[in-house]
Formats: sequence, C-alpha cells, structure tokens
Amino acid sequence: MIIVPIIVFTLLMAAERLSPTNLGKIGGQTLLVYMVTTTVAIVIGLGISNVMDPGSGITLASGNVNTEQAPSLGQQLLNIVPTNPISAMAEGNILAIIFFVLVFGIGMTLVREEADADSSIRNGIDTIFETAEAGAEVMFKVVWGIMEYGVIGVFALMAALFGEIGIEAIGAYAMLSLTLAIAIALQMTIVYFLVILRGLVGVSPLAFLRGTREALVTALSIRSSSGTLPVSMSNAEDNLRIDEGVYSFSLPLGATINMDGTAMYLGIVAIFAANIAGVSLTITQQFAILVTALLASVGTAGVPSASLVMMAAVLTQVGLPLEVIAMIAGIDPFLDRLRTMNNVAGDLAVSTLIGKWNGALDLTTGVWADEVSTGDAIAGDPSTD
Ligand code: ASP
Repeated sequence: MIIVPIIVFTLLMAAERLSPTNLGKIGGQTLLVYMVTTTVAIVIGLGISNVMDPGSGITLASGNVNTEQAPSLGQQLLNIVPTNPISAMAEGNILAIIFFVLVFGIGMTLVREEADADSSIRNGIDTIFETAEAGAEVMFKVVWGIMEYGVIGVFALMAALFGEIGIEAIGAYAMLSLTLAIAIALQMTIVYFLVILRGLVGVSPLAFLRGTREALVTALSIRSSSGTLPVSMSNAEDNLRIDEGVYSFSLPLGATINMDGTAMYLGIVAIFAANIAGVSLTITQQFAILVTALLASVGTAGVPSASLVMMAAVLTQVGLPLEVIAMIAGIDPFLDRLRTMNNVAGDLAVSTLIGKWNGALDLTTGVWADEVSTGDAIAGDPSTD
C-alpha cells in the first residue's frame, strides 16, 4: 500500500533537486561521486554478506518466496524501461517505476525552465512538485501510523520467531548487525579515509574525524541525515573549511540522495532474507539488488528508519518475503544509528573532495591547520578557525 506512493512522491522531490539547472559542473561532479561511493558501498555490503551469510540457519515458515525464473541480466536492464508506466505501478515493478518517475521529474524541470514566468505550465509544474512534497509528508504520516501499531506486530513476530527458532534467532540478529558493522567499517576506512581523504584530497582522516565529530555524533543519536544537516553544514564551514558554494549544494543533496550506509544495508538485508527463505541468489539477482538498492537509497528520506520502507521495494524486486522487514524492525533503532552515521560521513567526505577539486577547500585553517599531510597547504597562520 505504501511503497508505490512513497517512491513516486519522494523521487519527484529528488528529481527537482537533480534538475540540470541545479546541476552545473560542481553538481555533476558531486552527483557522480555520490553514485560511485554508493555503488561501492553496496558491493562491499553484498560481498561481506556472501561471506558471513547472515540469516543462514534459521527459517521463516510464513514467508512468501517467488524468486524462480529470474530474467537474464540483459532482460533485467531492458525491463527497467516500462512499456506502460501505469501497469508497472499496478504490478509493483519497482525499477520501472523509479525509472519512469525520474524521467518524468527531470522532464518537468526542463519544461519549467523553458516556460515563461507565471505561465500556466510553470505554475502547473510547481504545483506538481509541491503536491509531491505534500504527498510525501502524508505518506510519512501514514508510515508513522503503521509504525505505531507496527510495534505490536513486531513484538508478535519476534515472539513467534523466538518461539519457533529458539535462542538461535539472537545469533541471526547478531550476525546481521555484525555484517553491517563490518561493511560500514570497511566503507569508512577504505573508501572515505584511504581513497578519498588520504589519496585524493591528501589530508589526515583523523583531522576529518575531529572536524566532523559533532555531525557524526548527532547522526548516531538522532538517526536522521536530514536532521543532522545543520550540524554537518556548520562542521563543513567551521572545521573542514569547505567553501559555502560547494557544501550549501552538496550537503543538502547528499542528505536527500546519498546514503551509503542505507544502500549497503538494503543489499545485506536482501541476502539475509534470501538465507532465511532458504534460496540462494544468483549473480543476476544480486545485480538487480545492486541497482534497486542504489536507486532506492536515492529515494530514501533522511529520517529515522526510512530504509525499512525502501526495503520493501528491494525485496519485492527479487521476490523475497516482506515478513523479514517486520522481523528486523525490532533491532532497527540500533542499526539505523550506524547507517545514518555512515550516510553523513559519506556526504562530508565527498563534499571535502569536491571542495578540493574546485579550489574551494582551505587547507590552511580549521582542522587541517595542524595536521596537513601533503604539501598542498600554504603554511599559514593556524589560529584562524
Ligand atoms: N535513518 C537514515 C538516515 O536518515 C535512513 C535509513 O537508513 O533508514 O539517513
């Protein structure tokens, strides 16, 4: 009931931000790096899950599985373009819906740009975007309502699970949490610290951690990248010394569309669900998970536990049982903290890189002043913070 409307509304909002008018050179670079880091995050998540096999050893008796006759990779790519968007919505073909909504949304921004100010076309398009925003708000309210009563359902499902499987269920939860924690640790160390900060920007990851401490702690405590945005912006300005011209665009965009922790979790849960359902996923199906998780993370709102909703999209795409979502909802308040911290760290690391590429990063002040690891910075007065 909620997946299709949420995807349509939130992606229309994302498309407005992604409009070519908003993009420009810096925007294009930011978007590209965001997509690359998210793809790497999902690959890491899927890779670690294939090794750790979270969920193996327990079985969910009530789950509906429908993964047989997965189409070939080529066919899956072709299926992304729907023949008929309405039937894609009726059939719950998630990738096709995402594709159509993004194309439609970007089309609207192009038409709006060409239309005269105050023309009915322009006003109409503005109204559609405003409606999408209102629609998303309404759907979040509906989700909130479901979650309120969901607590009872989650309690019952977890009780039934423990009754059926016994204490081993704890092992499955522990394995799921451990898989996510390892994947996040790898993403942060390899992608952000070593490749982006040390390699491409040439600064100390420790200085970065010091400079983003408040934002990361806020993300851990409030579980919302959007809610953390003001703190991220102030850390970018005062500590990381990124120019406002970069972070004022890259951070809000990142809080909306760049969610590496969320994206990798979507992949990990798909493997977890497959293990519980007792099916093994082919490479083609894992590729479909990668693409869906990438696009679904773009459409995930930066609010607490938002990915539980998007998870339905990913599991539906490969025919895995949605009951798994209720099962893991009980531990989500804990896992969501890790994901959100990773999401925010990713936005800030990429913003630092974009700042560096565009001469919009001051390596002589802020946290870099006493800990610059390359010769880029001019030895300046470190007192200006
Ligand atoms: N809470 C996450 C965020 O705000 C989204 C999620 O993974 O549920 O970034």
